[in-house]
Amino acid sequence: MTAAPEVWSIRRVLEWASQDFRERGLPSPRLEAELLLAHVLGVDRIRLILDAERPLAAAELGRMRALIQRRRAREPVAYLLGRREFWGLDFEVDGRVLVPRPDTEALVEEALERTRDRSLHGRLLDLCTGSGCVAIAFAHERPTWAITGADASADALEVARRNALRLGAVWGVRWLRGDLWEALGAGERFELVTANPPYVPSAEVDQLEPDVRAWEPRLALDGGSDGLVLVRRIAAGARERLTPGGTLALELHHDQAERAEGLLRGAGFVEVRRRRDFAGHERVVSGRRA
Ligand code: GLN
Repeated sequence: MTAAPEVWSIRRVLEWASQDFRERGLPSPRLEAELLLAHVLGVDRIRLILDAERPLAAAELGRMRALIQRRRAREPVAYLLGRREFWGLDFEVDGRVLVPRPDTEALVEEALERTRDRSLHGRLLDLCTGSGCVAIAFAHERPTWAITGADASADALEVARRNALRLGAVWGVRWLRGDLWEALGAGERFELVTANPPYVPSAEVDQLEPDVRAWEPRLALDGGSDGLVLVRRIAAGARERLTPGGTLALELHHDQAERAEGLLRGAGFVEVRRRRDFAGHERVVSGRRA
């Protein structure tokens, strides 16, 4: 979209950008072009259709061009927009945190289902909290619970804190920096522990989509040699942090459910079960402390 004689209308920019994205093999070329342009113009996508003939100002065109270039380098759309919806909430995200994925809503569903009998009072510890999406989604559904999000990354916690402020989940929410349980006080216990830990086997990280491997924090992805290093540590340590009858719920890679179930049983958990995500993968394993 360099020097061209015609006017760059919304319609024309969208056609051009989606064609460019299509040729580069991006997954949803038209949708991505619309999202980026709507972001540049500060409007809803519907407005792009209503105002299809509106010409873009030079500054708008310049900003759109910069976003197209970043997207060509496979920077995730969520980072370009600075947001991603999760659990119907609008999360702020950037390269300091993993982009919240729809798969992870299965973890929130499982956590809610497992705690239905104590909807009013309880304490949640969300390990590897990242953007805070699991902790904040849960807080949204169980506003009277005490919520703790922990992460090894101080950068990630800044994002989580901002999200909690923006999404009104401030009351009763606290953020701790540390390696898994490290930052907790002695004897602190929880009715529920959730985690979406890094679980991709180290050797597979470099085979993930370029959007993921080149842009998302490796710390949030790399689960060690078999991907289960953190899962093992969480299963082993959760017992002394859970109240009797308390629940542990973990998100996993698409092919880890059976091994993770074995790990939970081996660590003394009962009522161990698996839950599928919307794509049909056994994405979540949970159990109760006996
Ligand atoms: N589901 C993510 C992916 O495969 C990985 C998330 C994680 O390791 N927790 O891209």
